[in-house]
Amino acid sequence: MSCFLLVACQSQNKKTTFIITSEQIKHLSEQDIEAIGTQVCVEADKRSVIANENSRLNKKLQMLAQTLPKKINNIELTYKVYLNTDPNAWSTVNGCIRINSGLIKLLNDNELQAVLAHEQAHIALKHAIKSFRLAPYVEITNKDVVILVKKEVAQKYEFEADYYALQLLMSKNINPIGLVTMLKKIPIHSTTNTTKSHPSKIKRIARILDRLGNK
Ligand SMILES: [Zn+2]
Repeated sequence: MSCFLLVACQSQNKKTTFIITSEQIKHLSEQDIEAIGTQVCVEADKRSVIANENSRLNKKLQMLAQTLPKKINNIELTYKVYLNTDPNAWSTVNGCIRINSGLIKLLNDNELQAVLAHEQAHIALKHAIKSFRLAPYVEITNKDVVILVKKEVAQKYEFEADYYALQLLMSKNINPIGLVTMLKKIPIHSTTNTTKSHPSKIKRIARILDRLGNK
């Protein structure tokens, strides 16, 4: 199985779509799916305006990242700031974590640490790999990888990531309340599909507070 490699071979401007069927997905190894993640990240970096290494925004992100683990499951994490007003963050299975400048401007340091911990959780818990395995098919274009995930599954992953982040923050002596205040600040209607699958903020906040109360 090597159809994922096609993503790398496309010409830049032509929109091309590849479908990986559920039958083909069965034959993909974890490494194959990681390779797709790598490609998604490379393509997103090419299409985005990345904040300069010495910029205030990038320095802030790298400084906050230093307070959390640098590797997960032996995967080195890489962080970049995209100059984009949409307050969003995402990660791919190969350790790529990207934060929009709009989010950095919206949140305080504690809340940004919560965002990073939440993204680390998705990588640690291999949510992208699990989503791939469960998907009826995966659509790869030169702009996006579309994985159909049932709403309940997507919600479960968000709760799991919040809980993992909560424990991670506490293990680093970082106040986990940032997970709650961050969610309160993030607008519900974001333009990106990563946030569409996120369960209602109210439910997530309630669950986090419940966990905190039970400590
Ligand atoms: Zn998430």
